[in-house]
Amino acid sequence: MNTNIYHMEQGFTDRKALEELKIGKLKKQIQRVYDNSPFHKERFDLVGFRPEMLKRAEDLKDVPFFDKTQERASQAESQEKGYTALGMHIVCDPRDVQRISSTSGTTGNPTFTGYTQKDSEVTAEIMRRAMPIMNAKPGDIVMHAFVLSMWIAGVPVADIMQMAGLCVVPIGGTSGAERFAVTARSVMPKQLNCTPSYAVWMAKELQNKYGIDPAEFGFERVLLAGEPGGSIPEVREEISKLWGGVKIYDGIGAMHSSFFSSFNCDHNTGLHFLAEDFIHLELIDPATGEILPLEDGVSGEGVYTALDKECAPAIRFRSGDRFVLRRGQCACGRDTLRYHVEGRTDDMLLVRGVNVFPAAIKAIVSRFGDHGVTNNMRVVLTSKPPVQEPPLEVRVELAADLPEEATKELAAEMSAVISKELRFKCQITLQANGTLDAFQQDKNQKQQIFIKEY
Ligand SMILES: [Zn+2]
Repeated sequence: MNTNIYHMEQGFTDRKALEELKIGKLKKQIQRVYDNSPFHKERFDLVGFRPEMLKRAEDLKDVPFFDKTQERASQAESQEKGYTALGMHIVCDPRDVQRISSTSGTTGNPTFTGYTQKDSEVTAEIMRRAMPIMNAKPGDIVMHAFVLSMWIAGVPVADIMQMAGLCVVPIGGTSGAERFAVTARSVMPKQLNCTPSYAVWMAKELQNKYGIDPAEFGFERVLLAGEPGGSIPEVREEISKLWGGVKIYDGIGAMHSSFFSSFNCDHNTGLHFLAEDFIHLELIDPATGEILPLEDGVSGEGVYTALDKECAPAIRFRSGDRFVLRRGQCACGRDTLRYHVEGRTDDMLLVRGVNVFPAAIKAIVSRFGDHGVTNNMRVVLTSKPPVQEPPLEVRVELAADLPEEATKELAAEMSAVISKELRFKCQITLQANGTLDAFQQDKNQKQQIFIKEY
């Protein structure tokens, strides 16, 4: 594994060497996929693409995209044939797969992801790069409070953190506040890993049910993942305060490339993409598929090609995540690609032709924290997404009771800000505290964002 291309404090300092390394890996990977996967060969042949046509990274434009729907179909076919759960598109020998994880399956049957030894090693290397970004030292004790069973953020991430040098306490996401408190007091952890909604819920459980101030455990940082909240300043602030002024880091992965690929630093200038030598990132216009330039301020859907992944590498895999790119050296000294996640293209709604991301609504709602609302909100769908008729109803929880007149005024004010900034008509309904389940979740403990009323 080539790791000297990345400098821990400065990032990718030699862009030319990086590009050379990447094109070499890309050619090798495309050839490997073509030679070892009849599934991919057929797809390439269908559009007349042959591996030797790939001379520059740009030539990847002639390789067909792959996405979640195709993946699901490929896995259904493979399972039906009694081949492997991982799909017709796997490239390695199924006997080399050491672990199978799955998604939650909220939008259908779960999909499965497999990792070989090398696949885990690559992710551990990316995790090692994240350690100085998070001010983490080898041996730091980490309470890992993601749901362990099947979920990628569960056991696989616990393992790579261990490989990166951290000491992992796999408490899981379902142990309850009492066990959490007993464990935290005993092991003296420095880091907590969990979803944003878990961080808020657990802190409140500890305070309200057991009279425990989470600050007493002495956590120095919380690493958030699995939900968009980790990139919203107000959500981060709330979590930091609840846990005693801890630093907040947000980590996100790249589908079928690496569990984690990007983290924010203390300067919060976007997520540092630490895996450029392992993952080829493209930004595309989600409507036309056209490749967009990787320039500062450009917004598009992230598309991944995994350069080292052995099992079922992402080959132009459409992530469904919409990024806004940031270029230039960050104040932390690292020169890497950086990006903000604008939202999931899956979650995107169309209100009278305007693209609406629930994460963007949540970011505005969060700003009203000192006006008496919590970060807990839902978007009400009155017809099958993405198209919704205005006004789009957003239900937001009040932190405490407000007089009726004040409630009305606040709702009107919030609606006005959302309508003005996001350019669609919105109607805010404020609900009493406790009437919007703060921890309504799917199987992976991710907070639900929609209420279906159609
Ligand atoms: Zn930075």
